[in-house]
Amino acid sequence: MASFLSEQLDFIFFFYGLAFILLGATCSRLASSQGAGQHWAMLGGFGFVHGVAEWLDLAALIVGDSLAFAMGRTAVMAASFFLLMEFARRKAIRLGLRPPGRWIYPLLALAIGFVGVTQGVVAANIVARYSAGFVGALGTSLALAWSARPLPGLAKGLTLSASAGFAFYAIAAGLIVPAGAFWPSTLINHGAFSALTAMPIQLVRGLLALWISFSIWAAWSQRLASDVSSPRYTAYVHHQFVWTVLATGVILLSGWALTEHLGEIYKQDVERRAASDIDLLASRLAGETATTEAMVRSLAGAPSVLPLLRGGTRKEVEAGQSVLDLDIAASGAKRGYILNRLGDVVASSNDDDALAGSSSHASAPYFLKSMAGAPAYEFVFEPDTGKHDYYASYPIKGRDHGIVGVAVLTRSLDDFEADLKNFGRPYFLVDPDGVVVMTNQPEAMRRTLWPLSEPRRLAVASRIGTPVQKPMFESNVVDEVWTNVDGVRNFVRRRFANHSDWSLVILKPTREIFATRFLGIVITLLVTIVGLIYMATKERKIHDDVVQDSRLRLQKLAQDLRVKATTDALTGLFNRAKLTPMLLDEMKRVDRYNTPLSLVMFDIDHFKSINDTHGHLIGDHVLVQLSRLVQRQIRSNDLLARWGGEEFLIMLPGSDGPKAFGVAEKLREAIAATDFGEVGSATCSFGVAQYVPGDAPDQLLARADAALYLAKNGGRNRVKLAPQPDRETAEQLRA
Ligand code: GH3
Ligand code: MG
Ligand code: MG
Repeated sequence: MASFLSEQLDFIFFFYGLAFILLGATCSRLASSQGAGQHWAMLGGFGFVHGVAEWLDLAALIVGDSLAFAMGRTAVMAASFFLLMEFARRKAIRLGLRPPGRWIYPLLALAIGFVGVTQGVVAANIVARYSAGFVGALGTSLALAWSARPLPGLAKGLTLSASAGFAFYAIAAGLIVPAGAFWPSTLINHGAFSALTAMPIQLVRGLLALWISFSIWAAWSQRLASDVSSPRYTAYVHHQFVWTVLATGVILLSGWALTEHLGEIYKQDVERRAASDIDLLASRLAGETATTEAMVRSLAGAPSVLPLLRGGTRKEVEAGQSVLDLDIAASGAKRGYILNRLGDVVASSNDDDALAGSSSHASAPYFLKSMAGAPAYEFVFEPDTGKHDYYASYPIKGRDHGIVGVAVLTRSLDDFEADLKNFGRPYFLVDPDGVVVMTNQPEAMRRTLWPLSEPRRLAVASRIGTPVQKPMFESNVVDEVWTNVDGVRNFVRRRFANHSDWSLVILKPTREIFATRFLGIVITLLVTIVGLIYMATKERKIHDDVVQDSRLRLQKLAQDLRVKATTDALTGLFNRAKLTPMLLDEMKRVDRYNTPLSLVMFDIDHFKSINDTHGHLIGDHVLVQLSRLVQRQIRSNDLLARWGGEEFLIMLPGSDGPKAFGVAEKLREAIAATDFGEVGSATCSFGVAQYVPGDAPDQLLARADAALYLAKNGGRNRVKLAPQPDRETAEQLRA
């Protein structure tokens, strides 16, 4: 599980970064919406910068890391934590607290930089996490918890959820750090966490980032929904939240499946290529040694060799020696020996060696094996000279088929090694303990490849003359394994060489695998972006629609109100409030153009008794009928209004008193002649007054009212024209 998840580190970095970049986007929109504090921009900044830091970690996985890159990434990470601290700091200031000033940042940066230079980049990373990361995330958690207090129901819950997310994040990113040389990073670190939980800490941080991001985003949409306060929009926001969470889940999971699938294809390809590489190496080596193996066999079987072992005539011995020399020449071997049953050299292609008689092969594995009747093939590495030779031996049988000695040919592997200088992929020839004796990786020479037991380590150390270093691979290799090689994931393939205990090993670095997985990540990113753009556009559109709708509704409402304020609800005529300013306007116009203007005021006779006899509803009906009748009778630029209960006013621009009197008389007759249904007939009394320049509206109205009073008093159902006020009075009025 742990190793499976650690292989998914690239995808984890990807969605970790994505989640924080989304947090950044949400907080920036939040910061730009009215009423929200500017400090949200700081949290947004943290989201963006930290998201980028995670993607840089991803890049380091794919394209490889370097010291400068690691330092740069630590700097970016520290900067993101500073923004987190700044968010908490500004929030604290708003609450009236007195947090440290901004001088804290250069100070911290200096401290982290100093640790980086003196202790290395890992130590700087740890210090940045302990100081800025832990403090910033914890401060942010508290700040969010505080700002949740006044919020209503759901928004409060969501903000508290984000606060809890940051509290956990403070632990996951600020306390669980890479293993360092100082306490507590020696105890509480990535390794300890993954040993305990079988999960890389980055997975936890990534999930927390998603949690935080979704909480803040949901809290914000909640707030947006309550700002817009439209049930349609609120329903949409809730709906959209559920869909976004589901869609994100589906996109990330299927993106991960695609990434994994692409990685798997490439992984298999790597394994296939590794298999063909190792086959190539093995057959190259076999080709190199094949003639030696064949020639030692024919040498051992040659009858002329026997006299060298059991003695013979001088001629026979010379013949034996020349067969040996010919064999060397034909096989390209370096040396040849004929050994007796005790392992002593009785003949050699090198006369000095034979004469010295010094080198007994009695304890050599190949001698023992061949004396037991089997051919033997051995690689021999001399730690002092660095020479590696290949030994092939074969039993020599006497006439009675008993073993009388052993033929040995040695071959130098210098040509083989020279050929492989340009092999291009890392390869190793290792002894049975995994000690590298031949490689195109100079730094790996004489290192052990896989972990050894303690006794083997000691044995190897005494053989190669130096203490055994840390093995290159994390795990043992039987034939093939995915393992960390000096901390980098590799595919390792091992194959025994030439029927011996020695083996050939090759490496396939995994950078290429991450590169194909990267394709899956990029596709996932694109789909996410398209999905988010779709959601955002849709949200925008619905938001705008809803806002537009409510604006239209408001306009309509305002218009309705305006109509209500100026119109009489029963008759649909203008009311007094509307007519009064119109009368004033008309009087000004008349003053300018010097045209006549008159008012006719009329009132239904004995209306009270109509109400009393027939009921209020019938009375209303009479009012409506009457207003329609009058409206029909007057000219289009005469203006009829309901002045009060059963009292009406007509403004007649262009008509002088007598002309208006005529109009009133005509109306009176028409009304009197009208059948008002159940009520039967009804009559009205009219008062007419002509405007005199200088009149105030009240004066003109008062004259019409007085005339109406006269008409009522005169017996009703009649028209009275108010007399014109004399000139002097008018002059006085004007002054
Ligand atoms: P006159 O004008 O001839 O002197 O007698 P009147 O009975 O018409 O006069 P008064 O002003 O005493 O009565 C007016 C009545 O009109 C009183 C009130 O109940 C009625 N009235 C006023 N507004 C409305 C209305 O909107 N609907 C109905 N049905 N009656 C109304
Ligand atoms: Mg009346
Ligand atoms: Mg009245």
